[in-house]
Amino acid sequence: MAKEYLRARILKDVKRIVIKIGSGVLTSTNGGLDATVFQRLAREISLLKRNGYEPIVVSSGAIAAGMNELGLAEKPKSIPQKQAAAAVGQSTLMKSYQKSFAEHGQKVAQVLLTHDDLSSRKRYLNARNTLLTLVDYGIIPVINENDSVAVEEIKFGDNDNLSALTTNLVEADLLLILTDINGLYDENPCEKADARRISVVEEVDREIEEIAGDTISTTGIGGMTTKVQAAKKAAIFGLPTIVANGKINGTISKVMTGEDVGTLFLPKGNRMGSRKHWIAFAVKPKGEIIVDEGAEKAIIDKGTSLLPSGILNVEGKFGAGDSVSIVNLYGSEFARGLVNYGCSEIMEIRGLNTRDIEGKLGYKYYDEVIHRDDLVVLYVQKCVTDQSLGAKDVH
Ligand code: GLU
Repeated sequence: MAKEYLRARILKDVKRIVIKIGSGVLTSTNGGLDATVFQRLAREISLLKRNGYEPIVVSSGAIAAGMNELGLAEKPKSIPQKQAAAAVGQSTLMKSYQKSFAEHGQKVAQVLLTHDDLSSRKRYLNARNTLLTLVDYGIIPVINENDSVAVEEIKFGDNDNLSALTTNLVEADLLLILTDINGLYDENPCEKADARRISVVEEVDREIEEIAGDTISTTGIGGMTTKVQAAKKAAIFGLPTIVANGKINGTISKVMTGEDVGTLFLPKGNRMGSRKHWIAFAVKPKGEIIVDEGAEKAIIDKGTSLLPSGILNVEGKFGAGDSVSIVNLYGSEFARGLVNYGCSEIMEIRGLNTRDIEGKLGYKYYDEVIHRDDLVVLYVQKCVTDQSLGAKDVH
């Protein structure tokens, strides 16, 4: 299929777009925020909005702006220093957005999130309501990680990941990641003059992850690896992702008219439901349940619930409703889910038939330790890192 035709088809029904803008796009060579970039992006994004699209911005740049304000030549190393720089820079960042969008009569709103906000289903839904209400009011939300309070345990880590989770949060149709290179290359374009841009990625597999690992954007936190991870998460949610160069004038309109710019990552055919996507990617597991081979097979092949009979052991401290990893005999996490029982209860009922739960505990809430509706199977490649994590819906 011709590239332009494929893009046009993919973009045909897109209305709501999460646009992630990296620090490398927003800063000038002296390190501060580049006012002309803000003016250009505000013009392009306001035009999108006037054309009936619903843009939601995820913006980096707080730490970079703060460093400039504080006169720091190098990125601070300690978390409190980064947090302080972000606190100073976030207001500068918003001021820049507000000023540039105001020239087009467009209002913006700041929304700062931590991973904790998305881990709790209640707070997740609260954040969704706020964001969707802003969109209804015709305002463009500008989301960033709440860096000034986010310590390691509650961090998204990078805004590529945050933007992927945001697609589910706001029920977007497209993830557009604007960075400072032209897309994903088959080799590192900084080292190899003949490196070629990859126009379309059908599926983020091991090979693509390896290529991404070799292609580093010049600034920013994650380089291409985190962009590819984000595209993978969006694809599982049934969404296309386009990674393109936000430094170049007109990129947004070129992308939206289907021109062959950047790299298009195709969505997966069978879209995972919003709640399951949230279980797979937004919630951090609090513990592990180790299961036998029979349970592993039944969950993966037949999409069954997790029953006490297949459980061998439990690690970590968690209560009913928490997220846990389901791990096989070899220590690989192959599924995630929300438990109906706490860790000490599961220790007591592990290995038992469901009819014996009540006899053991003196009560029974559910037959299942994790019901299939609360369970997501993850495709695990060789080593379990976030990079190699995929997920499929079980029906
Ligand atoms: N939240 C960080 C900032 O605003 C950026 C994180 C990232 O670029 O991935 O500076």
